[in-house]
Amino acid sequence: MARIIALAFVLLLALLSSCGKRKADVLYFNGTIYSGESSSSNLQAFAVRDGRIVSTGSDDDILDGFDAPKKVDLKGRTVLPGFIDAHCHFFGYASDLLKCDLTGSRSYEAALELLNAFSKTNKFSWLLGRGWDQNDWEDDSFPTRERLDSLYPTVPVFLMRIDGHAALCNAVALQLAGINGDTRVAGGEVLLNQSGEPTGLLIDNAVDLVKAKIPPFPDSLNAEALLKAQQHCFSVGLTTVDDAGLGKDSIFLIDRLQQEGKLKLRVYAMISDSKETRDYFFSKGPYKTDRLNVRAVKVYADGALGSRGACLKRPYADQPGHYGFLLHDLAYMNDIMDEAHENGFQVCTHAIGDSAVKTILMLYRENLSGENPRRWRIEHCQVVDPADMDYFSRYSIIPSVQPTHATSDMYWAEERLGKDRMTGAYAYRSLEREAETIAFGTDFPVERINPLLTFYAAVSRKDLEGNPPDGFRAEEAMKRKDVLKAMTTWAAYANFEEEEKGLIDNGYFADFIVLDRNIMEIDEEQIPQTRVLSTYVNGELVYGAE
Ligand SMILES: [Zn+2]
Repeated sequence: MARIIALAFVLLLALLSSCGKRKADVLYFNGTIYSGESSSSNLQAFAVRDGRIVSTGSDDDILDGFDAPKKVDLKGRTVLPGFIDAHCHFFGYASDLLKCDLTGSRSYEAALELLNAFSKTNKFSWLLGRGWDQNDWEDDSFPTRERLDSLYPTVPVFLMRIDGHAALCNAVALQLAGINGDTRVAGGEVLLNQSGEPTGLLIDNAVDLVKAKIPPFPDSLNAEALLKAQQHCFSVGLTTVDDAGLGKDSIFLIDRLQQEGKLKLRVYAMISDSKETRDYFFSKGPYKTDRLNVRAVKVYADGALGSRGACLKRPYADQPGHYGFLLHDLAYMNDIMDEAHENGFQVCTHAIGDSAVKTILMLYRENLSGENPRRWRIEHCQVVDPADMDYFSRYSIIPSVQPTHATSDMYWAEERLGKDRMTGAYAYRSLEREAETIAFGTDFPVERINPLLTFYAAVSRKDLEGNPPDGFRAEEAMKRKDVLKAMTTWAAYANFEEEEKGLIDNGYFADFIVLDRNIMEIDEEQIPQTRVLSTYVNGELVYGAE
């Protein structure tokens, strides 16, 4: 009798548990999964339904608790929330794919070979190139247009130098821009040969004469480039990109490609501060879909440190009497902030020098009341006077920074700033401590798109050769768990998306990546070699294999 009762009980339990099983589309199990909340891998498995994570836990929890037509064995591999790049130029990166990449070419001849190969698939009316640097060539004098003219007698050719301050053009391009031996340009130069004809090499404002004649890429080409760029992003584990400054037509195109199901990458679009774009979006109000979020405006306070355009409180150490400068007067910036505030928009201001950062902190203070529910951000924050640090906490202003800038700039930053100002330079840990949050990005295409290089730079404060051995201002290195947050959940917070992105947790989008090694534990030198095996957006495999 007892045996019969026991058997009945077991049968009843089995019945109950199968009835009690919830439905899911896919179960992922046997993983080393970091939810993004804690410093250790706290999950083995999760269930996905309709593009969202519906449950997380141990293998037993998920495999026993759910019924799903598909189960994926993660084979013990490391799984993280998909990376968010909090500040990049995704559209700009895509446009660059429509130009021949001449970076790293070792001679003019080699550059021409690259151009020739590119020209065979070029669909645009101009032949565009970028990234050449004659300093890398054996003959380091500026190139001239003769070879271009004979190779391309009918198509206009425009090849931008790596620094964007010079360009080489062929005769067709010069003619379209109306440039001849008599052309004079304020703030620029048309180089001439011995017979007084343009050599094809233009400097600074003279470059703009030709640039102004290049028609915009048609939507069909932009679309093609955006889809290619998205594939590059997926291959390095990015599932959301914050594009720091987009015009309205670019945003419309992104929205259309997403609605058509072609662009699967999620985009946080900061609108550019052009009047047309501002007027349109400020009158319409924030716009949000599952893949696109338009609720921020990008403003520039100053320039860059390398070119001494960043606005400093005291003169540059390597240029006496020069402070850099603000790009707009305060009234202009204040008006945009007012308008943004009134229409429910976030303000993301590019500020690099300590004077620019202080100016923006003060303007934000005037426009916000303490708590900063609008989550206004300062982009870059490269040089912050330690005396101004606590404004970030007092007004809960979000620093949005790019750790690879620290390891790219570390060789010359002190020349610009002098030793004493280095304390507040690239001070990510200090900023994180003040603000209790920080968002990480790359500023690609200025830096490479790979977020694992951001992770490495933030943790090690070293370049890819492992220099300097003790790390650049190593006291500003951050803990891996915080670096992961800065690239996922804190970046999501900076986008008002912390309830749907940045964690592997119930209710969140199933945006996640599988890595070939565990970046939370391996030796730091190994981090840059880490490869993304697969990337998922909304539960869909968009890169790699299962
Ligand atoms: Zn930028």
